[in-house]
Parts: sequence; C-alpha cells; structure tokens
Amino acid sequence: MSEKLDELGDLRRTHYTKDISSDIAGEEIVLAGWVRNWRDLGGLKFVNLQDKYGERQVTIKKGVVSDDVFEKAELGYQDCIILKGTVKAFEKAPGGIEIIPTELRILNKTPEKLPIDMTGESVSALDLRLDHRALDLRSLRNQAIFRIRGEVLRAIREFLFTHDFTEMTTPKIIGSATEGGTELFPIMYFDKEAFLTQSAQLYKEQLSGVYERVFELSPCFRAEKSHTKRHLCEIFVLDIEMAFADMSDVLETLENLIYNVIKRVRENEMESLEFLHMEDKTVLPEIPFPRYKYEEIIELINTKLGIPLEFGEDIPTEAYRKLGEELQGYYYITHWPYEIKPFYIQQSENPKYSESFDLQKGWLELTSGGTRVHNKNKLTQALEDKGLNPEAFKSHLQTFDYGMPPHAGVGLGIARWITILCGLDDIREAVMYPRTPDRLHP
Ligand code: ATP
Ligand code: MG
Repeated sequence: MSEKLDELGDLRRTHYTKDISSDIAGEEIVLAGWVRNWRDLGGLKFVNLQDKYGERQVTIKKGVVSDDVFEKAELGYQDCIILKGTVKAFEKAPGGIEIIPTELRILNKTPEKLPIDMTGESVSALDLRLDHRALDLRSLRNQAIFRIRGEVLRAIREFLFTHDFTEMTTPKIIGSATEGGTELFPIMYFDKEAFLTQSAQLYKEQLSGVYERVFELSPCFRAEKSHTKRHLCEIFVLDIEMAFADMSDVLETLENLIYNVIKRVRENEMESLEFLHMEDKTVLPEIPFPRYKYEEIIELINTKLGIPLEFGEDIPTEAYRKLGEELQGYYYITHWPYEIKPFYIQQSENPKYSESFDLQKGWLELTSGGTRVHNKNKLTQALEDKGLNPEAFKSHLQTFDYGMPPHAGVGLGIARWITILCGLDDIREAVMYPRTPDRLHP
C-alpha cells in the first residue's frame, strides 16, 4: 500500500475489453480497469484486466516487454490500472486474444487481502458482500445480474413507448397517506410532518386522465419490518395505468410486456444468463398466461395442498411456497375478495369479488393490479366503507370531478422480477444498495 502510485496523466482509454478482437491485431490500444486475477510464473506473468464489459488477458513476458513494465507488474487483486499495449491474436488466450503491454500505470492499490472473494472462485456471504457493496458489484456475477437488470429496464421503456405510453414522474414526498396504510416512513418537511410515498397509485390514476396511458419507474418506500427474502424497505416499481380500459386490457398488456422483455434479455444478455446458469430457465413464457380465480386457488390450496384456507384470507407464504411447486410458470390470480382490497379497486358484479389480480411466477407475487373506481361518489363511498376519511383525500377526489375516464393499472416490483430472471435466492442481491430494517449502510 505504501508504493508510489502513478498519475493518470495524458493516457486515455481507447477501447473497452469488448472492442478488442483479432480484427485489430497489431494495433496499439489503451485499456483501463481492475486486476480481476493474476498469475506469476517467474519469467511470465498473466493479468486479467477487467472493465465494465468483461476482461482480457495481459501477457507480461520477461524479455518481450520492457524491464520497466515487467518490474512494475507486481499486482494485487482489484488494483486499478491503465495500460498501453498491442493486441495479439493468441489461440490459447481466453477469447483468442492477448495484450502485450508497452506501458503500465498503477493508479490505485488494494490491501493484500480483500474482505470478499473477487476471483469468482467462491461466493462470499451476502451480508459481508453488502458491507463492501461497491467492491462486490464489480464481481462477474454482479456484472451479469445488473446487466440483465439494465436490459430489463431498457426493454420495459421501449415496449411501453412503442405502445403509446407516456413516462410520468410523480412526487415521492407526500403530505398524507396514499392508501391509508401504516407502512409509511414519516419525514420532517420543514416544520410539518410528511411521508415518503409507498406507491404512485393516486398520481398515476390522476395522470391516466391526462395522458391516457402512463408509466413510471421509480422508488417507493415500505416501512414494513419484514425479514424475508422478498421484502425491502426501498423498492423500485414499474407503475402502469391505462385509461378507457379495464383489468382485461392490463392483463393482456402486462403479459405482452413480460414476454417482450424476456425476449430482449435472451437476445442481448444471453452471456449473462449463461453465467448465472439461467439460459434454460429464463425462457420465453407461453402467452396468454393461465388465469385462475382467487377462489380456484383457495380450493386448490385446501384440497390438493392440504392447507386450510377460507375465502377472504390473504394467502400465507407457506401456501404460496406449495402453490409454486404446483404452478411453476407465470400465472394470474384474479378476482380477489373485495374486502381485502384497497378502496380504489372496483367491486365485481358479484360484490364478494373485486376486479383485481396478482401476477405470480411460481410462489412469488410480482405484481398487483386491477380496474379502478372512476366514479367520484362510488370512490367516496369506498373510502368510507374501508374506514378512511374522504376529507383526507379531498384533492385526489376533486380530480374525479373533471371527466375521469374508466381506467385500470398495475404495479410491478422490479427487484422481485430480477430475482426470478437471475435465479437469485434473496431479493437483496437484486438491488445495488438494498434497504432493509437492518441495513441502512452503505
Ligand atoms: P406482498 O404481499 O408480497 O408483501 P404487496 O401486495 O404488499 O406485496 P403491492 O402493494 O401489491 O405489494 O406492491 C406492488 C408490487 O411491488 C408487489 O407485487 C411486489 O412485486 C412489489 N413489492 C411490494 N412490496 C415490496 C417489498 N416490501 N419489497 C419488495 N417488493 C415489494
Ligand atoms: Mg400485492
């Protein structure tokens, strides 16, 4: 650590590792990044230089490179380096390419022993990795996970833009409880109490009366003290709302979106899927997705899975786990009991039920959605029936006076979907800096 470090000086990257191929053999290039792995065989040293796109082998042979470069190449895991060199085709090197350096600058050194494994030979404990997250995110495994996440977000936007959706941005600081929930984080807003939003629900409904089809990808905050592998306190949610539509339109749009996003991930991130051994699991689902009514699912859980449940109960985790063994793909659970749904969800013709749905993948809930109430009197009544004070929703209710169209929508938890697509065991792996009841740093 005490060694003298080099300055970046005038050296600038000319290529990323992905741009290095035998097509440019003989050319002089500048690569920058980190030492993922190295081997010292005496007169011959190999360095795997990693950047955000992958890695390339740098071959440092005594007599071939200058003595300066050879001596300087005393490297450690994750040292930050920049080097100038020539590209050489070499069949035995990974990717059939190696770099012969003519200049090497060590920009930053690491301690001899890193807190977590970065060679890819083992996976350190998740909590330890999260304590050193910025380092951990550089691992090839995390590069694969977050490349897939990036592709998912890009593909979602692209799909929605091509289907006439407008991207909205709604406030995350709110003055009163969105759904009358208790899961809100209070904050100080100057001298007043305010809250972090738990969902974009009310704003997306309002904006469906303006832009007709709207979406948002944004954080929401849930003050739930849940210690599960599927709950976080800060979540990133895809919110969709469609005007002149009901639940059936949303079901169709959502399954098409899921299908198209997976298609894009397979087209553009197959290597990442392969790295995570998901190439045969994250496959194109058949659409339309199977649709089961809540009552059918309860019946299945009661009779086939042997867990007694009554109409009106939420489905407990244990039952979901068993259900996931039975139904492994994507499927909808529709027509939940009206009683357990929020005030903005439309009651079905049979008042026992509601025009609501969840999208499931196996045991895991990915989304909730449904047809909304667009009639102000009905909405006011629903608030009262659910024990909420319409006065507290005055400004929201007002927007229903000015021609609110019938509308329906859905909210999808991005991290939940990433755990499925990447085959992760714990949702904390699917976010860069997870927030849980126990984790507020880094
Ligand atoms: P659950 O019953 O699984 O706790 P929920 O029904 O309370 O979830 P919704 O309010 O329906 O959640 O939120 C919409 C979506 O956001 C969920 O389907 C899920 O994908 C995601 N989500 C909600 N809460 C969390 C959380 N605490 N952590 C991670 N994702 C969440
Ligand atoms: Mg839900």
